[in-house]
Amino acid sequence: AGSFVAYSDSQAETSTPNLDLAQKDPKKKRIVVLGTGWAGTSFLKDLDISSCDVQVVSPRNYFAFTPLLPSVTCGTVEARSIVEPVRNIVKKRNGEIRFWEAECLKIDAANNRVMCRSNIENLVGNREFSLEYDYLVVAVGAQVNTFNTPGVKENCYFLKEVEDAQKIRAGVIDCFEKAVLPGLSEEERRTNLHFVIVGGGPTGVEFAAELHDFFQEDLVKLYPMVKDLVKITMVQSGDHILNMFDERISSFAERKFQRDGIEVLTGCRVLDVSEKAITMKNKAKGETSSVPHGLVVWSTGVGPRPLVRDFMEQIGQRKQRILATDEWLRVKGCENVYALGDCATIDQRKIMEDISAIFKAADKDNSGTLTVKEFQDVIEDIVIRYPQVDLYLKSKHLMDVTDLLRDPEGRERDEVDIEGFKLALSHVDSQMKSLPATAQVAAQQGAYLSHCFNRMEQCAENPEGPRRFRSTGRHAFRPFQYKHFGQFAPLGGEQAAAELPGDWVSMGHSTQWLWYSVYASKQVSWRTRVLVVSDWTRRFIFGRDSSR
Ligand code: FAD
Ligand code: MG
Ligand code: MG
Ligand code: MG
Ligand code: MG
Repeated sequence: AGSFVAYSDSQAETSTPNLDLAQKDPKKKRIVVLGTGWAGTSFLKDLDISSCDVQVVSPRNYFAFTPLLPSVTCGTVEARSIVEPVRNIVKKRNGEIRFWEAECLKIDAANNRVMCRSNIENLVGNREFSLEYDYLVVAVGAQVNTFNTPGVKENCYFLKEVEDAQKIRAGVIDCFEKAVLPGLSEEERRTNLHFVIVGGGPTGVEFAAELHDFFQEDLVKLYPMVKDLVKITMVQSGDHILNMFDERISSFAERKFQRDGIEVLTGCRVLDVSEKAITMKNKAKGETSSVPHGLVVWSTGVGPRPLVRDFMEQIGQRKQRILATDEWLRVKGCENVYALGDCATIDQRKIMEDISAIFKAADKDNSGTLTVKEFQDVIEDIVIRYPQVDLYLKSKHLMDVTDLLRDPEGRERDEVDIEGFKLALSHVDSQMKSLPATAQVAAQQGAYLSHCFNRMEQCAENPEGPRRFRSTGRHAFRPFQYKHFGQFAPLGGEQAAAELPGDWVSMGHSTQWLWYSVYASKQVSWRTRVLVVSDWTRRFIFGRDSSR
């Protein structure tokens, strides 16, 4: 009975409709988080909520482990095995993170408010609500980019969300069932079994490899009558597939696809996709051709969501291609809004813009020249503040930053003046590049930002450290630094390629086993880890499930 009373008491406390959005403790800072993907969940995971009031908005109440999405398209892994309920992630021992399954429709930056709408079907009551924030964390990711190519939205499959992967799985099986119906001509059967993949990036390549394996390992036995009619074509606008990887990997992939009979059309731009055919132009020859298809998967990169576009208009980033933040992930032109993951990019400051100030701060004795010792004292901070310095050293195969201070003949110098210093660093900014739109970047940014929020009070007075480029020390607020742990490209047939830090490249069967172990270990919970590993095991023993 006692527990029943306690239960009804707490019910009474929260039953007033307005109360569920109202703040429980007015002293706490209100944080609203948009999105529960890689960036959003990684932010929530380590966030200390004892001093803040956190609300999360996302139209999906789960986190999806996107690197395994291509495996879902052919049933190698089940969709349920790669998703984790958000509520498992946000439940915390020392308090509550409130989650609302809704889509944010508008960020009202001037009034520190977001407008949201629930899309749950058959909802009784009000769908729309707004939330006020002191800090907003935008982690809504990006959307597929069709480059406004006619017919793509209507006639292509995508590979971005879990539902997309499930649709592809059903679509592929449908193509086989269609192709074996009685009364079709051989040409019609061929068309139904022509699979086209637009985009030769990691996602497109991995899907092509999955599809080829699915066919070779499972479907060939179930549909032997059409086994010679299947064709996979990959269309890539650049000269090579996987062109963001090391050359060795990209040519390994091309050779493997050639052996597998996957046709790779490079230097081709898709002009139009209709229900029956795909039209493309060979850029070198200038020829246009139209090919009938059974199914097209469009995987050519991502662009900003309308929500983010609208926000950019509001805050004077109309001309930007993508939402820009500073190196602390704060949105430019909007003090209390942070953006991370695929929806934003860091606008890295150029070292040449600050060169005189850096020189002045380094020249502690005001002699007008910098000694090697003075330079060494500040270099660590410079490298943190301007990551391009490190990239520049690597690109020039320099071992040590002090090598920058050598004279043009390569001799060591005792000191440099401001002109010499400028000259030494003049090419460094050419190495600036924006971070890739990957889970690795998004997750590291989420972890970084929660770390900053957890120490917000210490950092409030000094958000950028004592000086812009100077002593960031142990307790001050460092800019975000990305650490690259390498990249995989599974290529099918139990083979994979990997690019690891330090210019390491590895390819073949053993790399596939490395892939299995890395992706098992990266699972967000033991539950999904067990599910994924048992899916793999099931596939090894019984093959993939070919029902629709
Ligand atoms: P997302 O993970 O996309 O999360 C966005 C979140 O915002 C979602 O929860 C979404 O529901 C929510 N949202 C959307 N609109 C709204 C709105 N209006 N209001 C509120 N919430 C909203 N990266 C790698 O590093 N390695 C890989 O192997 C790899 N493989 C990939 C394979 C595929 C098929 C795909 C599609 C991507 C892959 N990526 C990989 C890239 C990686 O998934 C993304 O870079 C990463 O998901 C970006 O994280 P994010 O949090 O910015 O966005
Ligand atoms: Mg996210
Ligand atoms: Mg995600
Ligand atoms: Mg980004
Ligand atoms: Mg000096």
